[in-house]
Parts: sequence; C-alpha cells; structure tokens
Amino acid sequence: MKKELVSPTNFNIMVSKLSDILVRALDAPLGYAINWGRVWSLWPVHLETACCSVEFGAASGPRYDVERFGIIEAFGSLRQCDLIVVQGTVTRKMAPRLRMVYDQMPEPKYVIAMGACAITGGLYIDSYNVLPGVDGIVPVDVYVPGCPPRPETLIQGTMLLQEKIKRSKIK
Ligand code: SF4
Repeated sequence: MKKELVSPTNFNIMVSKLSDILVRALDAPLGYAINWGRVWSLWPVHLETACCSVEFGAASGPRYDVERFGIIEAFGSLRQCDLIVVQGTVTRKMAPRLRMVYDQMPEPKYVIAMGACAITGGLYIDSYNVLPGVDGIVPVDVYVPGCPPRPETLIQGTMLLQEKIKRSKIK
C-alpha cells in the first residue's frame, strides 16, 4: 500500500497539483509587483516627425516633469524600450520603418498616438502620402487628441496607459 502511494506516477501528479496551487497563490501578488515595475519605468522611443514633438519636449521639462509619472527620458537601444510615442505625421514611405522600430522592441510593448496627425492624418488627411492614422501599422494603446495636445493631455494619456498596464495579466 505504502509503495503505491509513492510511486513515480503518484509523485508526478502530486508535484503538478502542488505547482498549480503555488502558481494560483502567487499569480495575483506577483502580477501586481511585475506590473507595478512596468508602470513606473516606461522607456519611450520618440518617433518625432512633426510639431507634436515640441509639446513632448515641454512635458519633459521642469514645469511638467513627465518623469515623475515614470516616463524615463534616457534610453540606450530599442531593445530596452517598451513604449513608442508617435509624435506627428507619418507618411506612407515611413510606415515600414515605424513597424520595424516596433518589431525590434521586446514584449510587452505599448504605443501612444500623440496628436491628430498620428491618430487620423490630421491636417494632411487628404494627402496622397500621409497615413490616415498609425493604428493600421502598429496597435495603438492610447490616443492623445489635440493639435498639438498640451503637456497635461499627454500626461493624462500616460496615466491611462498606466491604468491599462495595471489591469493587464502577466503572460
Ligand atoms: S497634430 Fe498638429 S501639432 Fe501635431 S504634428 Fe499634426 S499638425 Fe503638428
């Protein structure tokens, strides 16, 4: 009887059940801790193509100080970044480059479309060579409207993204 209880098959079943219980017990707190780290250390790639980028510059200065919301301004390479902020008009010629930048970033990654041009093509919507929004090329998480959006709007968009990250499940 004792021999059967500790057979290799039983032992494997017990270990897998135990690991299931452990994963369920740790999933919520661990997920919270990992998401907390992601929320407060977003490393952005700035895709600066037009005037909206000036407002990002303003948001990064001492008056608005976007870094206090966890947007870290310095980055080394695309492989360290987890956020693209598209700041301005994106032309059809530039679209594959935008996708290339996105593809080089590790998962999980996020996209903010900043300003009317990035969202819909803006003033240039009728132009033959301007994209009617970047969401056909990369999956946009947050749209920040305006022409250009003020720094406060950009900060609000960042906070919306942070809420989304907090609610996301760890894969
Ligand atoms: S949305 Fe307005 S401010 Fe921003 S890039 Fe387009 S024209 Fe310039």
